[in-house]
Amino acid sequence: MDKPLPPVNAETAPFWDACAEGRLVIQQCRECGGYQFYPRLVCTACGSTELDWADAVGAGSLKSWTVIRRAVSAAFEADVPYVVALVELDEGPTMMANLVTPNPTSLVMGQRVRVTFEPRGPELRVPQFQTEDGLT
Ligand SMILES: [Zn+2]
Repeated sequence: MDKPLPPVNAETAPFWDACAEGRLVIQQCRECGGYQFYPRLVCTACGSTELDWADAVGAGSLKSWTVIRRAVSAAFEADVPYVVALVELDEGPTMMANLVTPNPTSLVMGQRVRVTFEPRGPELRVPQFQTEDGLT
């Protein structure tokens, strides 16, 4: 069973296009300079609709996580145990994503993580993170 594909729409297409190229992008407001994730039509800080896409460094710190021991569907059974994490990107926004690590029970708050991409279907790649001792 294949993992589900994320919905792609006009708002999120630039994000998914960049992921397909192995780049993590987040929105940056032209008015106030703030970054935000997930993609939205307006800046959450100042309400401007003048948003650009900026390349993120692709690194961040572990803010919270949970170890999934029972797959949500058959598509994820081969992955258990796996980690779903909240990562605070170096630019500020928080992303929820899978965290690839050989040691899911040894994670530490604030641990540094880097983005990586999981191929999903013929055209998409889904961002996830890995610890520095993770798979490369
Ligand atoms: Zn703004």
